[in-house]
Amino acid sequence: MKLWRFNGGLPSLAEHKNESVNLPIEVATVPHQLIYPLRQHIGNAAASLVNVGDSVLRGQKIADAQGLISAPIHAGSSGTVTSIADHLIPHPSGFSAPSITIETDGLDNEIVPTPCTNFRELSISALVDIIREAGIVGLGGAAFPTAIKLDNQSRSRHIETLILNGAECEPYISCDDRLLKERADRVIEGVEILLHMLGAKQAILAIEDNVPDTFTAIQTAVENNHNSAITGVQIPTIYPTGGEKQLIKTLTGKEVPSGCIPADIGIVSINVGTVHAIQQAVIEGKPLTSRIITVTGEGVTKPHNLEVRIGTPIQHLITFCDGYTKHAERLIMGGPMMGFALLNDEIPVVKATNCILVASQHEAITSKQAMPCIRCGLCASACPATLLPQQLYWHSQSEQLEKAEKLNLFDCIECGCCDVVCPSHIPLVQHFRYAKSALKVQKHEKHLSDIARERFESRETRLARDKAERAERSRKKKAALKSKPAKEEIDAAITRSKQKKQSNEIGEN
Ligand code: SF4
Ligand code: SF4
Repeated sequence: MKLWRFNGGLPSLAEHKNESVNLPIEVATVPHQLIYPLRQHIGNAAASLVNVGDSVLRGQKIADAQGLISAPIHAGSSGTVTSIADHLIPHPSGFSAPSITIETDGLDNEIVPTPCTNFRELSISALVDIIREAGIVGLGGAAFPTAIKLDNQSRSRHIETLILNGAECEPYISCDDRLLKERADRVIEGVEILLHMLGAKQAILAIEDNVPDTFTAIQTAVENNHNSAITGVQIPTIYPTGGEKQLIKTLTGKEVPSGCIPADIGIVSINVGTVHAIQQAVIEGKPLTSRIITVTGEGVTKPHNLEVRIGTPIQHLITFCDGYTKHAERLIMGGPMMGFALLNDEIPVVKATNCILVASQHEAITSKQAMPCIRCGLCASACPATLLPQQLYWHSQSEQLEKAEKLNLFDCIECGCCDVVCPSHIPLVQHFRYAKSALKVQKHEKHLSDIARERFESRETRLARDKAERAERSRKKKAALKSKPAKEEIDAAITRSKQKKQSNEIGEN
């Protein structure tokens, strides 16, 4: 299959996969507490369906989606709801946010799932509903609700190609690789469900060429499946080839225009972990209550690939991995390039968590003293999104955010390539993250003020209309009164008429 090369990227980034890539998936124990932030997906926070003191079962929906873009949340084990309050969430801001805490009872009782023997007998709407109700979001890190991607975004467009993203390009992370090696058949069954739903002609499962064993496992599963529409493809290991737009370019040569989604050019791209979750929901009837993550780095005694209940506090996983080493310096959720530092290990695993990197001093990309930009242009050459990081930086730091937006700031995937190559050690991504959030706040405030202005204007219009209607009614009333003959005049006219009639009668006689 012909492959294309996306712009920039880092072909020789140290991978650090050996620390975990050969470790089979183990199932982590259930912790004493499971903590569920109500917002762990793109869109509106979910609304709690439980109260403090309620008993819950594994698989029970404890929070429901609110609005169009949102996703429900399910309990990962049985127990009792002990709090619905703010808790530290995994976010670069270090904020707390409303979360449900469940004290587990050790029984792990579940709502018995209803498996499906033939998904082809279900309507597309029924399949979308299963995926929505299972709380599935993009498990590659985006956490966008998958039902929206498959329904609202795809059904109105003609989808030709389904891309399955198995390109785990970020250093240290190996959870998708282990999933593909150990559960390839399930993933391929998930691909069949998606092909059926989208009506796509072909499905391409992309794997980097640094994991040949995984490619063999996938090839075997594809052959066993006998579906000629599914193809496994090895792609060059270049960071960040797993970025959605970069992968689409690599496999199809097509560019997703700025401000568009892949469905606009007939493509849907889904992470392989998400495909596995879809298979589990549709075939096994199981909502998303666990995921596979990599716990690695020089700061943890025994790195692992773990199947973990979502909501598990990180400290429980560190204990499961035999604790911290003396090198532990920093906790990072995600990899060293796109991940972010965590305040402490009480923070729970959420749906988007793919890795906990317990970094030593030299593993943590620590910020060196930034120096002035020398306009070398290396950042632009490395940018896989064909942006101009140097100019974005100038506009971001001088608060000229609209100018940064016009230079497609929102196309920045925060891959960190520009940071790595910058000889002046300018923390460019930090500036871009800040500028994006500031623009989002500005847009939100503008949206609120537009709504307030519209309400004010509509009130003014209504008051003016009421006033005009009152004035019109009053004018009509007065006019009616004016044109109405006085009673005395009517009586006099009747009298005159009667008199005339009488005098006529006398004359005739
Ligand atoms: S790489 Fe750094 S120094 Fe060079 S142009 Fe970009 S921001 Fe400036
Ligand atoms: S972080 Fe953004 S600007 Fe920098 S290289 Fe990546 S996509 Fe380009």
